[in-house]
Amino acid sequence: MIDWTALGRETVEILRAYLRIDTTNPPGNEIAGARFLEEVLRREGIASRTVESAPGRANLVARLSGDGALGGIVLHHHIDVVYADRRYWAVDPFGGEIRDGFLYGRGAIDMKSTGILQLAAVLALKRAGTRLKRDLILLATADEEAGSAYGAGFLAEHHPDWLQGAEYAISELGGIEIDPHYRAPFAHIVISEKTGLPLRLIARGAPGHGSMPCPTRRRTGSSARCTVSSPPSAVPACCRRCRRTSGAWPGCCRRTRARASTRSRRRSAIPAFAPGSSRAASGRPWCGRRSPSTCCGAARS
Ligand SMILES: [Zn+2]
Repeated sequence: MIDWTALGRETVEILRAYLRIDTTNPPGNEIAGARFLEEVLRREGIASRTVESAPGRANLVARLSGDGALGGIVLHHHIDVVYADRRYWAVDPFGGEIRDGFLYGRGAIDMKSTGILQLAAVLALKRAGTRLKRDLILLATADEEAGSAYGAGFLAEHHPDWLQGAEYAISELGGIEIDPHYRAPFAHIVISEKTGLPLRLIARGAPGHGSMPCPTRRRTGSSARCTVSSPPSAVPACCRRCRRTSGAWPGCCRRTRARASTRSRRRSAIPAFAPGSSRAASGRPWCGRRSPSTCCGAARS
């Protein structure tokens, strides 16, 4: 019988300790985070393996074995976090502070919280002695915030055995939205991510996570003067990849390029307001990048 209240309290404390480890990428220093996870697992008698792709750039794997009746599930998170400018924080971004019932810290959302919830699930199953049909593979990787070369890329190249027997993987993004404007709950299933676009930009304004511009910080997104000092790469990463793998990569060069241009044509056809949404009524612009209910409110650039 699992004591969920106690497990919840314990999980919060583990997360606070994890948030106190500064794994800002660059430089990453994910080894500190990996050692922390390793120690928590070791106390429970769960073996883990940590491998560095470069000094300090660590990846960790641990496995709870099932009886093999079904394929394994990978519980994945990345150890690194994006830079936190302390001038804009009301609390220490690496303090793991709880204030007014909320836990603050760089990585509290993206994505140490997910990693620790996954870890808690592994601990609970191990303690309960649950018989599993699937292997449960806890995977923590480096370098997600800056290209993944030292993390997922390194593992794909050098340690594919870490995922042996896996059928599914749960990682960041995805979820279910419930909104009165929807006819039914809206589920996100992420099957791919946008590819890298190397640009050098200078923008002034309050900082935030690049993927989630904030309405109160609109200046940075919409009217900042940007200086592009190097032309963007026109070849998507998967094209480079498919060249290497002789077309085995889904979406080879020609098809990928054709899709990209269709997407950009469609994008310019997106109306200023999400049709029928409360945003349209309120007069707030729709960024076109997110669903109307979670629209960041920033005008499209
Ligand atoms: Zn993330």
